[in-house]
Amino acid sequence: LDPNKDRLNPTDKEVEKVLRPQEFEDFAGQDKILENLKIFVKAARLRGEALDHVLLHGPPGLGKTTLSHIIANEMGVGIKITSGPVLDKPGDLAGLLTNLETGDILFIDEIHRLSPLVEEYLYSAMEDFKIDIMLETGPNARSVQISLNPFTLVGATTRSGLLTSPLRARFGINSRLQYYDAKLLTSIVMRSADILKTPITEEGAFEIARRSRGTPRIANALLRRTRDFAQIKGNGEIETEIARYALNALNVDEHGLDEMDNKILSTIIDKFKGGPVGLKTIATAVGEDEGTIEEVYEPFLIQEGYLMRTARGREATEAAYHHLGKLKSGGTGT
Ligand code: ADP
Repeated sequence: LDPNKDRLNPTDKEVEKVLRPQEFEDFAGQDKILENLKIFVKAARLRGEALDHVLLHGPPGLGKTTLSHIIANEMGVGIKITSGPVLDKPGDLAGLLTNLETGDILFIDEIHRLSPLVEEYLYSAMEDFKIDIMLETGPNARSVQISLNPFTLVGATTRSGLLTSPLRARFGINSRLQYYDAKLLTSIVMRSADILKTPITEEGAFEIARRSRGTPRIANALLRRTRDFAQIKGNGEIETEIARYALNALNVDEHGLDEMDNKILSTIIDKFKGGPVGLKTIATAVGEDEGTIEEVYEPFLIQEGYLMRTARGREATEAAYHHLGKLKSGGTGT
């Protein structure tokens, strides 16, 4: 379900931890969100209270998990990590909640995938720091109320459209992460290369950055692959030439679009004369979930100017034709 995460092998996941910024200062970009979070964190600390519940949304790999760890660090509290699909019984949730210390953070990834029953339980936990637990079953069944330590729920979702409104309403802080521009990604790649002790030129870092689909996770993964090429095919340093060579060998598109991005664009152009065509139709044609296209692929394609959202559906832009080497008449370009 997470196209970026799926690309990672176990070593990548380990490295991802090493590369994860620990403090606000090390977190690049998302200025507006950070500015606000710093104030909320400072104020909560001054009052000695738990931070308000935080909802982070945006495409995968943009830093939602990282930010929640940073918030815990900056608040000086512990953090417990889980995800919507894992929490399938209210008992699992109760177990986690009752183990939280005052001010701790409970991070729920993919919070849009909570079961309705578990979500119910979460409401009173978030609102009054209380949960009702059923003891025994049958004729002896009774429910007891348990008080929880005040905690902060940090929910992350790639699909904010799927969140129920009662759940959404219980978050005091609601932030949408944006794609990163090539300049920010360059600084992230430089920082990661430094941690990995890989020599790199700024131009080499930029080459990786601009082909990373605006996404730090992808930038870091490409950095590691490129490092291998630099070691075996070059002199160990990542500079523009070796970065280009590596990225071409890895089939990373000039503009960082991935296979599904290109499939969506070529489908609109080849099968639907460039659009406008409805989202549902596109989804069926490319064999991907409608919501995933809308919330994972489309935002980047629109931002980069390859796709337009019109009242009558999605339309491929001139840039999309150009990118795929196609002519607007439907023929093949040069
Ligand atoms: P998400 O939870 O949104 O899918 P993560 O927080 O797991 O994304 O981030 C993926 C990787 O990208 C992590 O290794 C993290 O170090 C890196 N990363 C994300 N955002 C930033 C940032 N703003 N600055 C530096 N590195 C980042």
